[in-house]
Amino acid sequence: MLYSKNKIALVDCNSFYVSCERLFNPSIIRKPVVVLSSNDGCVISRSSEAKALGIKMGEPYFKVRKIVKENDVKIFSTNFSLYGDISRRVMKTLKQFSPQMEVYSIDEAFLDLSSVKNEKLLEHGYKIRETVLKWTGIPTSIGMATTKTLSKAANYIAKTEKSGVVNLINLKQIDELLSKIKINDVWGVGKQLTKFYITNGINTAYDLKNMHNGWIKKNTNVFGSRTAMELKGIPCVSLEPHEEKRKNCCVSRSFGKKVTRLEELSEAITAHCLNAAEKIRTDKQTVKKITVFIRTSPFQKNQNYYSNSKSIDLPIRTNDSIILVKKALAILESIYVKGYKYQKTGIVFSDLKDVDIYNKNLFAEVNNEEKRIKLMKAIDHTNFKYGRNALSIAQAGLKKNGTSKGNMLLKLIQLVLIFYLLLRSLKTSILLILFKEFFNSEVFSRKEISKIKMLKIISKIMIRAKDKNPI
Ligand SMILES: [Mg+2]
Repeated sequence: MLYSKNKIALVDCNSFYVSCERLFNPSIIRKPVVVLSSNDGCVISRSSEAKALGIKMGEPYFKVRKIVKENDVKIFSTNFSLYGDISRRVMKTLKQFSPQMEVYSIDEAFLDLSSVKNEKLLEHGYKIRETVLKWTGIPTSIGMATTKTLSKAANYIAKTEKSGVVNLINLKQIDELLSKIKINDVWGVGKQLTKFYITNGINTAYDLKNMHNGWIKKNTNVFGSRTAMELKGIPCVSLEPHEEKRKNCCVSRSFGKKVTRLEELSEAITAHCLNAAEKIRTDKQTVKKITVFIRTSPFQKNQNYYSNSKSIDLPIRTNDSIILVKKALAILESIYVKGYKYQKTGIVFSDLKDVDIYNKNLFAEVNNEEKRIKLMKAIDHTNFKYGRNALSIAQAGLKKNGTSKGNMLLKLIQLVLIFYLLLRSLKTSILLILFKEFFNSEVFSRKEISKIKMLKIISKIMIRAKDKNPI
């Protein structure tokens, strides 16, 4: 057959957001769990146990409240920065299995497996599944076929039959399986098309596969006929390995408890800024425009509403966390008004461009700039290896729980770890720049200054030790 060389696998993470929450909370494994959309509105991820209780995808929370209470369903609010981090790890793992890969969504990717022999495909699928689970802790389902639409169908079967991996390539019973897939579950068939197909007696993927091309072309659009062709095994939707780079990068979050102090907002903005800076560095991009926004809750009765945002154009494009945090905090200070209970804050990087059209900073010392680039690389590398925020900058705040004494101890332990890691990979001169930046900051309150003094002493001792024993 002409297209038999085409072998595509769709890898889809099972109940992705729930699986991410379970990584950090093993007590909810095998329990019904639901993740709600922003502002806790609708169900956007369910564990199989929650599905079995009849909780539907997209349902508003108030409709499922009764089931939740009666069955002790665990509820979580979305944490997109966590999901994004884990998604990147999953995708990086998948990339090892195929250089030709299309990241389709936060929890799905198409892999080109044309180089794998037919008889080895299933085994290969199980290997991919096992590796992703071992390296990231996320369970997946894999569907394999000769077209993207069929691989989606194979994945659907893998999920419903809980087999983990389904391969439709050269499968004799393919029609039998396609007849089990309802037309609305076929990839690319939306609500309107579903209605139209059902009124014309097309109820399953198998029915659509058997429709005459002429009829589909005449009665639907180009997308409709593409889907039907793909179900017949004729590839019409190609793999798109080169993802479009983002033009903007927004990181924001609602506070669990409303905040009033500038220091607390500064911590959040710093953390968001570091997160966004890491994202654009991963994509080898730089930013020209930064926007910071803050707002109170629009639904809070007896409270005045306040919302403000401000943007600035940077004189020189950059992806340097330290410069970006400084600028973002200056914007925040200019829009912050005392006396309000803030519910949400966020940052947007816009006018993003590739690093290779990076305008060199003519006024910066060459050495200093190179050191900064090395420093950012070291931070990103450490954070990838040891988890987000293993290495951060002082304004971002460290652990938020516990007593202040506990916090201080945690900060100390974390700083010692930071220095240990940095001493292994960076020169003393870079460390000094880092410290100059951190401790020149005006964000620290008086209380924090005594802690900083202690940390400065530790750093001096460690820097001296480093100078005596250069690596
Ligand atoms: Mg999924």
